[in-house]
Amino acid sequence: MNAIVPKTRKLHVVTHGCQMNVYDSARMADVLAPLGYTTVDTPEGADMVIMNTCHIRERAADKVFSALGRLRDLKEAGGSKMMIAVTGCVAQAEGDLLLRRAPYVDLVVGPQAYHRLPELIARVHREKKSVLDTDFPADQKFDFLPDAAAFQGVIANLTIQEGCDKFCSFCVVPYTRGAEVSRPAASIIAEAKRMVAQGTREVVLLGQNVNAYHGQGPDGTIWNLARLLLALSEVPELRRLRYTTSHPSDMGEELILAHRDNPALMPFLHLPVQSGSDRMLAAMNRKHKADDFRRIVAKLRDVRPDMAFTSDFIIGHPGETDADFAATMKLVRETGFALAYSFNYSPRPGTPAAGLPQVPDEVKNARLYELQAELRRQQDAFNAATVGLSTPVLFTGLGRHPGQIAGRSLYAQPVVVDSTAPLTGEVHTVKITYANPNSLLGTLTTTKETIAA
Ligand code: SAM
Ligand code: SF4
Repeated sequence: MNAIVPKTRKLHVVTHGCQMNVYDSARMADVLAPLGYTTVDTPEGADMVIMNTCHIRERAADKVFSALGRLRDLKEAGGSKMMIAVTGCVAQAEGDLLLRRAPYVDLVVGPQAYHRLPELIARVHREKKSVLDTDFPADQKFDFLPDAAAFQGVIANLTIQEGCDKFCSFCVVPYTRGAEVSRPAASIIAEAKRMVAQGTREVVLLGQNVNAYHGQGPDGTIWNLARLLLALSEVPELRRLRYTTSHPSDMGEELILAHRDNPALMPFLHLPVQSGSDRMLAAMNRKHKADDFRRIVAKLRDVRPDMAFTSDFIIGHPGETDADFAATMKLVRETGFALAYSFNYSPRPGTPAAGLPQVPDEVKNARLYELQAELRRQQDAFNAATVGLSTPVLFTGLGRHPGQIAGRSLYAQPVVVDSTAPLTGEVHTVKITYANPNSLLGTLTTTKETIAA
């Protein structure tokens, strides 16, 4: 008997925002694959375009409307056959407005409803009108996403926790992603094993508050992130583990010690502090003080001396004075970051800080400029310090130029080597010879696998 082969259709996915959106985009493609959708690199000629959006700052949300305008032109040029779907946090937060401003959008789907995409697409065809699904359904999307997934690469993301219960004054995440939910450990381990079978060697565990992870363990107890990382480190051929994004309040003792005891865990942590001023941290409802952050950094450096840190900073949150900003600069100088992301505060509709008197733009801009100059200096110094060192690199594929291969250091720095050796998926020692602003160059010192990495 012949199996029914679905008609081939072209799917183009545009991803804005965080790594969690990158992961979600890949999972949406997996959900649609059984319907015959294969991904293509450009929207021209696509049967369906998904725009997976970010609402974290105003500029990110604005990008959606300008990009949608371009898609409308393509849709009209193709006789309106292209289906346009908007997903992600803008869909969740502004779904109704979106359909009013862009009525040519066929489908608006919030982050909790991706597993329902096939049924929603069928509804658009059946009802011949736009469909919106921004519910927080009782059924957990992770229980309904398909097991079969496309290969994401030697380094791949894996979402283990979603949503947030912390309600920082500036942040839309608790409203767009909903309450904090942890996936059961067994389904995460099974997914990691499938990824490794496809060639993945480094897994980045994702969550808005990934270190608040508290999922059901296979033994019936609740596992924290340290326990989950231990189980994942036992997956054969899974060489490296990272996790992001962490909240300082959830950085428990066991997790700190995991950086000493778990050989797969990289000595690198993204730990957003947002501000160095306790007054601002209280105004932000962060539930930690600047000294809590200092203590965590010191403990981690104590148990793992080669530990390096990245962070996020918000400049010009309502109420921020020159003294508050000076406290942030002090914390930055004392800590010494490998890299950090910094943003001007952007008022988000519906969040507590949006209604407060705002810091003038020129003040924010001047402070951000000063902070970013210091962070750039620290990043350059961190990269320059690697020159002359021999360090383990996980090779991920070919470099941008012929005759080059590329990989990642322990600190996720891109490393490029002149070689044509087929080393993808392997860890080898590289002597770093030159530091560019955002990548390193080096030479292979051995093509024998480096064990301790
Ligand atoms: N859960 C993480 C934490 O607690 O730090 C942060 C996740 S958030 C998606 C990523 C970063 O966006 C934040 O760390 C913050 O620096 C920045 N961010 C969030 N809301 C913002 C806003 N309204 N304006 C500017 N930056 C913002
Ligand atoms: Fe947003 Fe992170 Fe605060 Fe949650 S903890 S509200 S995700 S900044």
